[in-house]
Amino acid sequence: MNRPKADAIIRPDFKFEDMGIGGLDKEFTSIFRRAFASRIFPPALIEKLGIQHVKGMLLYGPPGTGKTLIARQIGKMLNAREPKIVNGPDMLSKYVGESEGNIRKLFQDAEDEYKKKGEESSLHIIIFDELDSVFKQRGSKSDGTGVADNLVNQLLAKMDGVEQLNNILVIGMTNRKDLIDNALLRPGRFEVQVEIHLPDEPGRLQILEIKTKKMRDNKGLGQDVDLPQLAKLTKNFSGAEIEGLIKSATSFALNKHIKIGTIGSIKSDFENTILDMSCFLSALD
Ligand code: ATP
Repeated sequence: MNRPKADAIIRPDFKFEDMGIGGLDKEFTSIFRRAFASRIFPPALIEKLGIQHVKGMLLYGPPGTGKTLIARQIGKMLNAREPKIVNGPDMLSKYVGESEGNIRKLFQDAEDEYKKKGEESSLHIIIFDELDSVFKQRGSKSDGTGVADNLVNQLLAKMDGVEQLNNILVIGMTNRKDLIDNALLRPGRFEVQVEIHLPDEPGRLQILEIKTKKMRDNKGLGQDVDLPQLAKLTKNFSGAEIEGLIKSATSFALNKHIKIGTIGSIKSDFENTILDMSCFLSALD
């Protein structure tokens, strides 16, 4: 069986600058390297070189910092199938009383394709969002039904079973790494763990630039809007909060102009609204 070449694994039309991720270059590169190495090198060579063949990654950090965004972009870059995203709390309610087969089903398509195409099969990504809400320490009292313990056991069995497959990458996300069952954090499971932190000032500037790019291209935002100043003012904001701030400021400014019936540049309103709102949110912090 021929192993896919690097250029068949990385999507040729994918541009790093189009990813729309701000301030997480180091994290993205390290996650991408591990995911890519797992695809390109045969598991036996990886073992020989002493590198781990990565099946699982854990992205942890505060809410709204871009964990899902990174996982999706890694998938796009590596030409993966559309990821299966499993939301922790939904899964728990949906799976109560159901058989062990539910987690198995998530892995089924990838396993079937691997049987047919071997190492040439495409990458399948399974994303577990809010991992801590389901896969918490076994035996913890919060779930009286024992369903959660069963789910941890099922996932452990599944991840241990995919040893020979290099077409599955399981990505777990959490805001509370400390709650997750320790066994899931051991080698062979969610072994690569990357912290996704709140953006620093240069990161916030990048996010502001990304999120206002269309407006700037369409001259909806004047040249005089001071994004570096906004980056300073939005200390402790997550990427999602910066996005929310821009959306609110935009609709606020647009609304105001609709009400007073003027047509013209909204740039000063936009800037003032953002400044007002970011001062307000900083004060709440
Ligand atoms: P949660 O832990 O709550 O699930 P998350 O870390 O997975 O959140 P995302 O869902 O990836 O966060 O991001 C939420 C929104 O914020 C997305 O629309 C995304 O575009 C934006 N966002 C967050 N961080 C960044 C970033 N670093 N660069 C660009 N956009 C970002």
